[in-house]
Amino acid sequence: MADLVILGASYAGTQLALAARANGFAGAITMIGDEPHLPYQRPPLSKGFLRDEVDASSLPLQSPERFAEERIVLRTGVRALRIDRTARTVALSDGSTLGYDRLALTTGARCRTLSCEGAGLANVHYLRDLADAGAIRDSAGRVRHAVVIGGGFIGLEVAAALRVLGLDVTVVEMQERLLQRAVPPLISSFLMQAHEQQGVHFRMASRVRRLVGQGAVEAVELESGEVLPAGMVVAGLGVVPNVELAEACGLTVDNGIVVDAFARTSDPLIVAAGDCASYPNPWLNASARGGAADRRVRVESIQSANDLARVAAAALADCATPYEAVPWFWSDQYGYKLQMVGTSEGREEIVLRGEVASGKFTALYLRDGILIGADSVNRPIDHMAARRLVAARVRSDAALLRDESVALKSLVPA
Ligand code: FAD
Ligand code: NAP
Repeated sequence: MADLVILGASYAGTQLALAARANGFAGAITMIGDEPHLPYQRPPLSKGFLRDEVDASSLPLQSPERFAEERIVLRTGVRALRIDRTARTVALSDGSTLGYDRLALTTGARCRTLSCEGAGLANVHYLRDLADAGAIRDSAGRVRHAVVIGGGFIGLEVAAALRVLGLDVTVVEMQERLLQRAVPPLISSFLMQAHEQQGVHFRMASRVRRLVGQGAVEAVELESGEVLPAGMVVAGLGVVPNVELAEACGLTVDNGIVVDAFARTSDPLIVAAGDCASYPNPWLNASARGGAADRRVRVESIQSANDLARVAAAALADCATPYEAVPWFWSDQYGYKLQMVGTSEGREEIVLRGEVASGKFTALYLRDGILIGADSVNRPIDHMAARRLVAARVRSDAALLRDESVALKSLVPA
């Protein structure tokens, strides 16, 4: 019987292990994770956990009993150091070596870090794991002024949480608008106004020159010369995929571990999934103009991690099916739930359902008359219907999409 070893114990690793069993994989499954915890949910770390509304005990993705029932051996607090593809072994940080017949790489991503003067001062934080979130929460209880560097998902969610906790918050973003790469200007402006209404300050198109302080950070100096008081800093500058293990053993890597539509790497015995993997995503490719149909993307979301892991598990169980899931994700900021499906890239027309000013609306993106994506704010029913409409790839009538007396789900083909 074949043995499966999974490196990285989070969303992709856990899903891959469970799906391999569900597909009838009968051999031993061992999952290696360098964090000291059971695999856990990350979204609450920038939301309810920071606001002290969610306890760490509620975060595990699965109970130890479930792993045991599925005969998945979880080794936490151990890091994979090296893969030997000839001997089919993995060297671990506890000095042991593990043999494999099939290997899965689900090593995720880590935070991009600041390189400016003062980056090493105390109370300068990043947010990827439970330890980071605990440290941010501790700092937040002790200071008045926070500077958040980066107006992406981490930056905005952390800004919202810190503001709710009563801190004075300034967000510094290099780009002209928030979430520039993820959403169209309409959504960026809506979010900026929502934050400003809650008292968050913004410095857009701004760069940090240095962090200032004696031991701990006290201020952030911008390239404009402005100095912002800061008892704490949280930098959300994007992530870097954890590809070093793959690279060192000679797998193909290009902004992520390169896999095909079946999550297979350049070694037929090794699959990869999650934030570390770069794969052909038919929905994101559908929006690309001419000739880019086989471009690969690295998608940093839970949906992508789970769905690609299921594809990888199917490939391991010799019942390979290509990746076909429609991408979707969400972000919670104050009372607003932003839900995104498909893509807005390549859109030719934006159709709006509802008033942006009401804080309850859906923006639908059309290309060649086909719905390629939608962003909803506090309209979960629209979001669920949009997922099905995007998946159906049918020609959509803008007037019908706009008409709020017509339920979007009634437009989904039978
Ligand atoms: P990861 O979750 O990054 O896990 C990889 C694991 O592998 C880590 O535990 C890592 O320490 C471990 N590892 C790495 N190298 C080794 C090694 N050599 N040996 C052993 N272990 C190793 N996405 C959404 O869709 N919606 C959200 O609302 C959302 N909110 C988020 C909030 C926060 C604060 C963060 C940080 C992320 C959020 N995301 C959200 C993104 C989402 O969490 C990631 O896309 C998802 O975690 C990716 O899962 P993964 O399994 O690929 O990798
Ligand atoms: P992100 O969404 O990529 O945003 C990072 C932002 O910071 C970008 O706008 C980036 O600009 C900007 N930036 C980079 N360097 C900067 C600098 N020196 N000064 C000022 N701005 C700078 O990444 P993130 O917010 O750090 O999130 C990290 C990961 O967590 C991502 O994988 C994200 O998907 C995930 N996450 C997801 C959610 C969610 O889905 N709700 C919530 C939290 C986190 P450029 O674009 O020019 O680089």
